[in-house]
Formats: sequence, C-alpha cells, structure tokens
Amino acid sequence: MNIDLSRRGFLRLAGAGAAATTLGAMGFGQAEAQVAAHVRSFKLATTTETRNICTYCSVACGIIMYSNGDLNAGEKAELIHIEGDADHPTNRGTLCPKGSALKSYVNAETRLTHPRYRAPGSDRFEEISWDEAFDKIARAIKDDRDANLIETDDKGTPVNRLTTTGFLAASATTNETAWATWKVVRSLGIVGFDNQARV
Ligand code: SF4
Repeated sequence: MNIDLSRRGFLRLAGAGAAATTLGAMGFGQAEAQVAAHVRSFKLATTTETRNICTYCSVACGIIMYSNGDLNAGEKAELIHIEGDADHPTNRGTLCPKGSALKSYVNAETRLTHPRYRAPGSDRFEEISWDEAFDKIARAIKDDRDANLIETDDKGTPVNRLTTTGFLAASATTNETAWATWKVVRSLGIVGFDNQARV
C-alpha cells in the first residue's frame, strides 16, 4: 500500500504511535483510554490549512496559515496561527523573529488591505478597488509605452527600450512567479526593473 505522507504528517503519526505503544507495553492499556478521554482536542485539528510564503524578505520561507471559519458557508476566515512549513525546501519549518510574528501583522488594525490612490494635485489617498487599480496601472503603462518606446538606436538597430516606466517587484515569491514577472516586464521593454532584495 502506498501512502502519500508529508514529512510533517509522518512526524505527527510517528509521535502518536510511539506514545500509544509505550503506554501499552507498560501495561497501561485501560489508563490510556481514561487519559485520552480527558485530553483537550488539538486546537488546530479543525482549522483550514493554507500554504503561503512569508512576505518579509527574499529568503521567501514557506509558511502554513491556520484559520477558523467555513468560507463555503459564507463565514469569514479568522487566522489563529502561523508556523513554518516543515515540508518547504527553503526553511524546513523554521522562521526568523519577523516570520514568527506574522500573525500579528496580518491581524493588525493598521494593515492596508486595499490599494490606495492619490489623484494628481490631491493631498490625500483614497481607497480604490483592485480592479480599478489594475485598470489604472495598465492604462498608464500603455499610454507611456505608446508615447515613449524607443524602437531603434542611432544606427537603426532594433532595441525596443522603454525608459520612462519603472517596475518594482517583490522578491518574496516563488521562482515561477519571478520568472513570469521578469518576462512581462522585459517584454514591455522596461529597463528600470528592481526589487527590494536586489536579486
Ligand atoms: S521568516 Fe524571516 S527569513 Fe524567512 S522570509 Fe520571513 S522574514 Fe525572511
């Protein structure tokens, strides 16, 4: 029989099996049942697990987010715990102090959850929808590219450079996301491309 078991799952199963075997071998078969009846249920047992990447630096550690709330029933997810992902090749379950405090950041009242836009000449930011933000960004890039793309250099050699739009990307992503971002930015001809980790 093949069992698809993660490293984390294996450790959990092995720990439970060892405890039960030890008690049984010591002749505590009945006591084991009584003890088990008083054991509190594991607080993460009924939560939803979501895999994600820590957003704080270019190490991009894998995390598991545990939340209560049935989204299918229209409930809102309530994040109750975050820990390092033991199956993630980058961090193998470990987190630095910033990563360990992620739950506080996520639940912070001051956290921005929507894009904000400051209109030309305005002295304040206003909240806008993600769709509106994407439309504004796409429109601005298209207009700038139409007006300023440098197609050839002085000798007539094709260069397709766009030097008037820059792009700042996040480094805390997967290789695949970084690859897709690179392709989009370079295919537009954008030369000024960077991220907070300079990688
Ligand atoms: S847990 Fe720490 S080291 Fe890992 S990505 Fe987050 S900030 Fe970087």
